[in-house]
Amino acid sequence: MRDKIDILVSNGLIVTMNEERRVVENGYVAISGDRIVDVGVGDGKDKYIAEEVIDARKHIVLPGLMCAHTHFYGLLLTGSPWFSKIEPPTDFQQNLQRIWWALDVLLSNEDAYASALMGSIEFVKSGVTFFFDNISAPNAISGVLDYIEKAVNEVGLRGYLSFEATQRRSLQEGVEGLRENERFIKKNNFDESKLVKGAIYLHASFTVSNDLFLKARELADKYRALLSIHAEEGLVDVYHNIERYGIRPIERMEKLGFLKDDVILVHVVNATDDEIKIIKKTGAHVAHNAMSNMLNAVGVAKVPEMIEQGINVGIGNDGYIFDHFENMRSTYLIHKVWRKDPRIMTPLQILEMSTVNVARMFKVWKELGSIEAGKKADIVLIRPELPSTPVNSKTVYGHLVNTVNSRDVKTVIVNGRLVMKDRVILNVDEEKSIDYIHKVVEKLWDRLVEKGEYQLDVLDKP
Ligand SMILES: [Zn+2]
Repeated sequence: MRDKIDILVSNGLIVTMNEERRVVENGYVAISGDRIVDVGVGDGKDKYIAEEVIDARKHIVLPGLMCAHTHFYGLLLTGSPWFSKIEPPTDFQQNLQRIWWALDVLLSNEDAYASALMGSIEFVKSGVTFFFDNISAPNAISGVLDYIEKAVNEVGLRGYLSFEATQRRSLQEGVEGLRENERFIKKNNFDESKLVKGAIYLHASFTVSNDLFLKARELADKYRALLSIHAEEGLVDVYHNIERYGIRPIERMEKLGFLKDDVILVHVVNATDDEIKIIKKTGAHVAHNAMSNMLNAVGVAKVPEMIEQGINVGIGNDGYIFDHFENMRSTYLIHKVWRKDPRIMTPLQILEMSTVNVARMFKVWKELGSIEAGKKADIVLIRPELPSTPVNSKTVYGHLVNTVNSRDVKTVIVNGRLVMKDRVILNVDEEKSIDYIHKVVEKLWDRLVEKGEYQLDVLDKP
């Protein structure tokens, strides 16, 4: 008797990312409903009758990749005429004042929806099935997360959505930001059927008062929600805290009782060795965004040291490049050149930082992050188009980091449901969506060129 199942992925090179990091050559994955029910050797056809059989010959079968930190709205500015209207920023703080804060005050619900649609399409096309988005839109606070949720659901991804609580303009605006997070958490986090959940997001310690830190901590405890915050991305964060509080950002967060194992510290570029010890002690996690750090010229985070100390680090994109393979490759390379040591960062570590580590960070390791019987079925099929050497159990990690790119991602399954097959996105019309997104972007750029201004008053508040 063969068991009836929904999907049988057959004859693939299965990179399980289970505890033993088992790789199965010529193996199968059996999926029933939203779960993986079996992983084994062979085509699986002697054990299962499936509604849909996916031939995975010459394919790598991976757990869905996870992006530890993103901003969908970061996609809206590529090539914008705004860049030719401003004096080019010379540091991180001016980057915010002249570019990102000039943009975010003009964002509407429709901009949020369009950027989330674009980002979700790009994620699927590069094999990312789960992400943590952080939006800033001070003039579209209440309800904006519903617009992002709509786009993510249309494409069919799993995600955490959060709104930026910041007091750069007023103390009250920070409270309103938290309120939007709380509203969304109450709406989604206790409903098992929802793939999109809420989380809490504070901008950074140089735009947040002690009071707001404590309010965010209280909310996270009350709803068992995740917290994310940019930490020591630029020097302004460090100087602000030393000037106002006499201590550095991560020291201040610890003193306030804010840091726990539900906190995702984003960037951590300028942390001292003592601060890294604090992160380890509190169990907080780190989202590393190598390409964004390069673009913004903020420096190189001490990721190898953090990993050595046992801190959990995952790879994010910070809203810059959504091709996850480029982010993996950059993470693989940047620490070698920075430390002048080619031994630093292995391909397997890079893959862990995109799967199991992020599953731990997102507190879903029992359900996601690896291909194992009983886990949720988030699975990606990759066919390397131009592998220069054989792709097998011994070479696969090297190929994933060195030769594969997102165009090799062919088929994506989220929660047992196909969302892309043979590179065709199944739930939305890709071409129509992109035409629509471009129209929204052009309207936004018109507003930006007409009304955009530097946001300079920002650091005087908390
Ligand atoms: Zn960010």
